[in-house]
Order: sequence, then C-alpha cells, then structure tokens
Amino acid sequence: MSLANKLAEERRARLAAERLLEQKQAELQAANRKLGKHAERLNDQIVETRAEVETVRNENLRVKSDLTAAKQKVEIAERRLWHSIQTIRDGFAFFDADSRMIAANDSWLAVFDGLEAVKPGISYIEILQFLTEEGIVNIGNTPPAQWRERMLDRWQGNAPEPEVIRLWNGAYIKLIDERGQGGDVVSLALDITETILREKELQDARRRAEAANHAKSSFLANMSHEIRTPMNGVVGMAELLMDTDLTEEQNLYANTIRKSGEALLVIINDVLDYSKIEAEKLHLHEEPFDLERTVHELVMLLQPNARDKELELLVDYDMFLPTRFHGDPGRIRQVLTNLIGNAVKFTEKGHVLVRVVGMPAAAPESPEHADAIAHLRITVEDTGIGIAPDKQAHIFGEFNQVEDAKNRRFEGTGLGLAISRKLIAMMQGDIWIDSEEGRGSTFGISLNLPVHERLDPDMLRLPDSLRRVLIVDPQDVSRTILEKQLASVGLDVRGCSSGAQALELCGATDLILSEHHMPGMDGMELAEALREAGQDVPIVLLSPFAGGTYVDPARPLLAAVLQKPATRSDLLAALHKAAPPEPARPMRVLAAEDNRTNRLVFSSMLKDLNIELHFAEDGRQAVDLYGEVRPDIVFMDISMPGMDGKEATAHIRALEKSTGRHVPIIAMTAHALGSDKTEILSAGLDHYMTKPLRKDAIIEHILTARPERALDPCAAICAPPEQQAASA
Ligand code: ADP
Repeated sequence: MSLANKLAEERRARLAAERLLEQKQAELQAANRKLGKHAERLNDQIVETRAEVETVRNENLRVKSDLTAAKQKVEIAERRLWHSIQTIRDGFAFFDADSRMIAANDSWLAVFDGLEAVKPGISYIEILQFLTEEGIVNIGNTPPAQWRERMLDRWQGNAPEPEVIRLWNGAYIKLIDERGQGGDVVSLALDITETILREKELQDARRRAEAANHAKSSFLANMSHEIRTPMNGVVGMAELLMDTDLTEEQNLYANTIRKSGEALLVIINDVLDYSKIEAEKLHLHEEPFDLERTVHELVMLLQPNARDKELELLVDYDMFLPTRFHGDPGRIRQVLTNLIGNAVKFTEKGHVLVRVVGMPAAAPESPEHADAIAHLRITVEDTGIGIAPDKQAHIFGEFNQVEDAKNRRFEGTGLGLAISRKLIAMMQGDIWIDSEEGRGSTFGISLNLPVHERLDPDMLRLPDSLRRVLIVDPQDVSRTILEKQLASVGLDVRGCSSGAQALELCGATDLILSEHHMPGMDGMELAEALREAGQDVPIVLLSPFAGGTYVDPARPLLAAVLQKPATRSDLLAALHKAAPPEPARPMRVLAAEDNRTNRLVFSSMLKDLNIELHFAEDGRQAVDLYGEVRPDIVFMDISMPGMDGKEATAHIRALEKSTGRHVPIIAMTAHALGSDKTEILSAGLDHYMTKPLRKDAIIEHILTARPERALDPCAAICAPPEQQAASA
C-alpha cells in the first residue's frame, strides 16, 4: 500500500475516531444531564418525604397523647361507675354470653357471705348450686335440683321474667335480669323485704278493718231488727188507742205517736236493709214475677201523692217486651219504690214517667234455652228540682243528701239510693243518673233478667176491623206515649188535645181513645156530644178514677173504661173488646209437595172446601210461605229436594219459639215403617199420613185445626167427612 493511501487511511481512521469521540462525548453529556435531572428529582422527593415523616411523627405524638388522655378518662369513668355500683344497696352483676360472671358489686356478693369461689369467672349454674347447697336460698319443699332447673330455664330465656326469691334470713330479693344484644346479661338483685312486709301488714290491717266493719254491720242489723219489734207495738197500740173514745186532744197525741212511729219504722227499715247488705246477710230470692204489674202497682200506690201535687204519673212499657221475668220482685220493687218515690217527692209540677224498655230476648235455639235473657232498662224521669252535676255521684253514698234549701224541705234518710245501688249491684245490674238542676232528673237501672214467659203474639195482633184510632188527651207526654204504643202495633194513629178537636176529627175513625179529665169538654161529655152528632164510633175512656165512672149517666155510651195508667194487656184487651166486629175468614191451608201430580191430586181432593189453599214446592218455600200466609194447618211432604220436610218443620218450630204459636204440621210420606213414623214425629211434626192420601183423613185434620174466627170449611160440602164416608 502506498504511503499516500496509508496516510489517507490513517486520516480516515482518525476522523472516524474523532467522530466516535464526539459522539461519545455528546452521549456522555446527555447522560450527565439526565443524571443531573434525576438527582434533582430525587432531591425533591427526599425533601418531600422528610416533610411527610415529620408530619406523621407529629400526628403520632398527638394521637399518643390523645390516647393517654382518653385512657385516663375511661379509667376515671369506669372507676366512678364502679364506685356508684358499689355504693347502691341493691346487688348488681354482669355475665358474659357463656353465663360466666364478669363482675359483681359487694351487695350482690354479700349474700354468699365471703364464699371465695363466687368471683368473676364463676358460671351461673355454679352460683345456683351454691345458693341451694349452702342453704342461702329458702326454697321450701321444692327439691333443689328442680328449683335450679327452673331458675336456669328462666335465665336462659330471651327476656327472663322478674323472680322473687326468699333468703335463709327471711329477706325477699327480686331478681331482674336483662339480656343484651351480644348475649351479655345484666343482673339486678333488689331487696324488697320492706315492701313485702308492708304489704302483708296492710293486708292484715284491711282484713281486721273488714272484720270490724262486718261486726258493726251485723250489730246494726241486729239492733234495727230488735228495735223494729217494739216499734211495731208502739205504732199498733197507737192505732188501737185511736179507735177508742178519745178527746180531740188525746186523738191528736195518739195520731202524732202513730205518725212518728211510722216515720221511725221507715228509717229503721232502711238502716236494717243497708246493714244487712253490708254484713252480707241479705240474699236475693228469685222467682217468676210480673214486671209490668209491679210497676203499675207502685204507680197506683204513689198515685195519691202525685195527685195531691197535680203531677201526671205515667208508665211507658215497651209494647214488645215480655212482662214475666225471673228475679227478686221484692227487691226490684224496693228499688223502684225508692226511685219513683223520690221522683214524686222532688217534683212540684209536671210529670213523672216510668219507662221500661228492653232488647227482646233472642229466640232460643232449643227448648232448653227457653229462659233467654232480656236486657232491661227502666228509667224514672221527672220534671223536678234536679241535681247539680257535682252532687250526682255523692247522693249514691250512704246518708248522703243534697244539702240546699230546695232539697231540705223534704224528709228522708239519704239511705234509699245507697241501698238501691247495692241491691242493683247484687243483681249484676247498673244504676245511673242524668239530671239538670231546675229541669229534672232521670234515674235509670239496667238489669239482665231471664224471661219467664214470652209475650203472647196474639195479644198484639189487633182485629183487621181496627185500623184508625184517634187519641184525645190534653197532656202532650201521655198522648205521645199512647200514640207511640199504638202505632208500634200497626195502628194508624192520630192525636188531638181536646174534645172539641176530637169532634172535628172523628170522621173515618174506627175507635176513639179519650182521657177522662180535660179542660172544657171532658171525656164523658165528648161521648155524649159524639152520639148527639150521630157518631157511633166506639169510645174507650182512660180515667184516673175508673171506679167512679159507673155512676155517670154517659157511662153506657162507652165501650170500655180503663184505669190510668193502664197496663198494656188492659189497653189491648179494651181495644179488642171495643173494635168493630171482624168478618170471619176462610181457613188458610199450606201444603208442601214437590211433585206436580201430587199437588193436583191434593187440590182436587179439597176443591169443594171453603179454604185458602197455598202450595210450596219445596221445604225452603214452605218456611217462607209459613211466615207470609200464617197458615192454620200445614201438610208437609217429607222427601223433597233441597230442604226436606223434617228440616222445614224444624225451621218453622224455631220461628214459633219467638211467637209462641204452634201450627199443626201433618207429615205426608210414602214410607210406611213404624221407625219412620217415630223419626218423623220426633222431628216436630204432629201427625202422620201415608201416601196414597185419603181425602177424609185430610179433611178431618183441617176441621180439627179450625180456629174460632175461621169460616166452616165444609159449609160448601154440607156434610162432615164421616157422613160422606158412610154414604160412599
Ligand atoms: P232520701 O230521699 O231518703 O233523702 P235517697 O238516698 O233516696 O235518700 O236520696 C238521696 C238524695 O238524693 C235526696 O235527699 C235528694 O237530695 C237527692 N235526690 C234523689 N232523687 C232525687 C230526684 N228525683 N230529684 C232531685 N233530687 C233527688
């Protein structure tokens, strides 16, 4: 190789090396720059991290000091809590979910009298064991194992009931255990010994007081009884003395002795009754009695007092309520005498109204329940002086009266209402008052009495010829009562307040019911005026002196005279008697038969009879028609689809329980066995006919069932069935 080439080559190599060097230097510089930047970033990070570390360190220090403070606070709170728990007299303990004791205060532990084993960690079962084995608890005759089992069962319950245990020393401890959410239990043991002892003392004191009260009442009852006998002698002898020849002065003295004696007897009787009730010596004597008559008798007795004051004494007895009940008539009478007597006593003008209403007893399902209970409400309403609201409860207390000038013009012991209240309570009833001072009072009693006899429904069924009635009475209250009563039995009632008005209204009236005493034209004069005007409408007179009307020349113009206030039965009987005569009606026959041909046969057999014949095509229809038609006799096919004859009869008999009627029901059946007959008759049917039916047997049953008011069904045939049979 030439030198020049060599030199060129070297130059090239040098140039290449120089270039490489330059490149490496540039790379080195770039790397240096990168390193510099990295170092810068690292530096920044270190600074940051250092700052963070510093913050965390500070925070850590703060938390640490907070924790220390909190711990101190918790310790103080715990110490205070525990101190408090220790200072309370009652026992206090905690248990964990496994029933192991966590802690207990000294009171709780005290009952174990220093037993070392009873300390935190001990289980509830072991505690029960100690209680019984060491004789700490007095479990009487209960076997210890049984007692522990019961206590453990209780403890394990979700919400254990408080339990009172008795300790060996007579102390009573009430255990109240509360289970928390995690299963922990807080157990309280309260010492209730004092409370129990005080309760016992109170009970003893009460028993002693009751015994003393009882002895006092017995003493009073005996005393009053003993005083009554000589008092009867005083009153009786004074009466006898008055029948002898006495001067006017002596007569006055004897009469004063009699009257004072009688007044004293009333007081003694009240005291006797009251103390008898208190001493539980008074017993109710229950028997059947007539409530309506009792009320009327009382009203008649008090009538003279009322009449002296010109008071109207009225009775409004629910038209649909039975009158015969089962109860103590004497005591019911005593209560009503007191209430009605007070009403008359404390009323100067207006009226006293005794109202008896009741929920009619439900129809009994079977004859054993014939004594259904009626809910009665008897009220005595007056228009007297009334009683201020603040005195209304007070007057039911013994010897309590309203102490004001208006009241104390009247005599009395203040025992009547107290006795009435006690008597009504003995009858499981209620007594109440509703009063407004100056306007009047209403005293009420409610009683549940068994019905002894149901109301006769025929009594309320008035003849069809009596529809429109005119009531003449100047007193609004008594006229309204009559209007309401008569309207309730289906009459078309009008009322007016004077004879003159009655004369104007009397047209289109089937009967006039008039009060006797009226200003202007009285009842008798009204009767005369009506007859003079050519009116022959029947007149019934209501008079407070019924007996005195016989001497009146107008008496024959009246259809009936009723003593006022009239009982429902007297009133209805007078209406029946005075009603225009009713035309006789044909007999009503109901036949239940599902077979069309049989119905045809039946009706052809009876086609000549003068009767109303109704057909039912099954048992259900028979029951419905029974209610609508009110038949005099029922012929009942036994096997019918749906409701059969026996079932339909049972329904009819159940309906009759509330009406008291008994319609003859004749079975018609194809079954001829003797056992069928017994079964049918025991289902409530009265007679039995086997198919094919005989005409004369049917007619005989119809004739036997004919009521008085019905036309003779055979009048059209002209011959009774036996004669027909004989001639056949
Ligand atoms: P007595 O009538 O013998 O005083 P009661 O116990 O029957 O005793 O009644 C207590 C009191 O209640 C009566 O004294 C009277 O003040 C008041 N009282 C009772 N009934 C009525 C009444 N209908 N109207 C106004 N006050 C009455």
